[in-house]
Formats: sequence, structure tokens, C-alpha cells
Amino acid sequence: MKLVKTRQELADIVTQWHRAGETIGVVPTMGSLHAGHLALVKALDGKATRRIVTIFVNPIQFNNPDDFHLYPRGLEADAALLEETGGVDILYAPDETQIYAPGFSTRVVVSGLDAMLCGGDRPGHFDGVATIVTKLFMQTRADIAAFGEKDFQQLCIVRRLVQDLDLPVSILPVPTVREADQLALSSRNRRLTPVQRARAAHLPASLHTCIAELKAGKNLETCLKTCWQDLEEAGFTVHYLELRSSKNLQATQPSDPSARLFVAASLGDVRLIDNMPLC
Ligand code: AMP
Repeated sequence: MKLVKTRQELADIVTQWHRAGETIGVVPTMGSLHAGHLALVKALDGKATRRIVTIFVNPIQFNNPDDFHLYPRGLEADAALLEETGGVDILYAPDETQIYAPGFSTRVVVSGLDAMLCGGDRPGHFDGVATIVTKLFMQTRADIAAFGEKDFQQLCIVRRLVQDLDLPVSILPVPTVREADQLALSSRNRRLTPVQRARAAHLPASLHTCIAELKAGKNLETCLKTCWQDLEEAGFTVHYLELRSSKNLQATQPSDPSARLFVAASLGDVRLIDNMPLC
């Protein structure tokens, strides 16, 4: 695996790859890699002959400067993990100068999908995501890109922008990788204290319970209210808990085969998200 830090070096390599007829797969990340990210790399097996993992903690998608500064970083450990796992040709870890040149003033805005759920209380977040993803697609010239269902709204937004802008990349969704207690793996989990980490398992457990009740035919509003209260009793601050269609993220009913339960909730200052399908 080669560590590449400049977009020029990356451009030189991907040009050669394209000339040689290789298929390029990319996994965009913000680092602090874990088994969830590794699953994205693995998902490219048989679909790409060359694989690039990108690590860039994207300042423009953080609307809270503290969250940006506190975001865990560790390039050496990330590189060692990828090297040990194998299957990655390039780790692209640019600094800000390689991404946002002085005077940078463009934003990719995916209207409609960006204002709900995580966009509701994080204005501008998805503009930042859509902008960096578009830039990384252009810089890596990837043919295929893997994204986790853990960030389901992000996945929908990326699919939309690829379709709307005719970007020549296909999007590969990858199911959420979970800990033994079902907590979705996340770089943010590292910021949980041991007590918070133990409590965090309530998040997937509450979703499972809520889904079971919905499937049993109980009233949607009542189920959501009970689940919200359970989470608050477990020490969470709940930001949203909603049933939405996985096709277009619009509010929906449990009878909809594409219905999916979405949650964002914080323990202390650590914001966690999760989502699960009803079927
Ligand atoms: P991040 O580094 O958190 O920005 O995530 C980079 C990519 O990894 C995104 O496509 C995420 O959806 C994906 N990802 C993060 N956590 C998980 C997980 N637990 N399971 C599957 N994919 C994940």
C-alpha cells in the first residue's frame, strides 16, 4: 500500500491505472478506521482491480468547531490497520491545501434530502459532505465507491448527486457492521466513557424493540414516543427518531416495505446515529 498525500501524485497513478484498463474502487473515510470501514474495502472485492481508501477530516461538514477539533485522528494507526488487512493499493490522505485551495467557494447542494433527519440540526452538513464526496470522486476518478448504510442519509444523498450530475461512478451500499452488543461501529464510539459505552447499547436495543412492536401492529406514534422515552431514561438526548422510506427518506408508515427507523441521540457530547429496516 502506498501512502499518497498530494492530488498530483494521485492523478499520475490513476491516469496510469485507467490507461492499463484497471477498475478503480474508492472508500471515502474520515479515518480512525474500524471494522466498518474495512467491510467497505472488502465489499469492493471482485468489483475493482485497484482500491483507494481516502482519509480526510472534512472541515466544511462540521457545523460545530469543537466536534471538528475533537474528531479522533491517527494516520499511523490507520495506515498500519490497512496494511495489515491488505487489499488497498493507495491510502490517499491529503491535507487541506490539496482539497480546498485559497478562494474555494463552491458547494454541492442536494436539495430536499439535506434538510431532514441529520440535516435538520446540522445546517450545511450535507452540503459539506456532497462537496467533498464530489471532489474525491473527481480526484480519484473512481469507477465504484463503497458507502456504509450506517450513514443512510449520506448514502441517499451521494446516490442522488451521482445521478443528478451524471458522475461516472457506481455506488455500492454496505450493511452496517456492529459490535457484539449491536452498537454500530463508529469512530465517535472512542469518545464514549466506559459508562457511556455500556449505555450506548440501549440505542440499537431500543430500535429493535420499537421495530418488533411496529411489526406486531402497534400504533406508530405510540411506538416512537415509547422508544424516545426509553432512550431518555437510558441517559440519551434524542435529536430525532423517525420512520422514513429508504427510497426517498420521506415519512412513511410501517406497512411500507421500504420503511426504515432512523435515530440520532447523544450521550454527553457524543452524537450517535443508527438506522434499521423494518423488513
Ligand atoms: P466515516 O469515516 O465515519 O466518515 O465513514 C466512512 C464510511 O464508512 C461511510 O461510508 C460510512 O457509512 C462507513 N461506515 C462507518 N461506520 C460503519 C459501520 N459501522 N458499518 C458500515 N459502514 C460504516
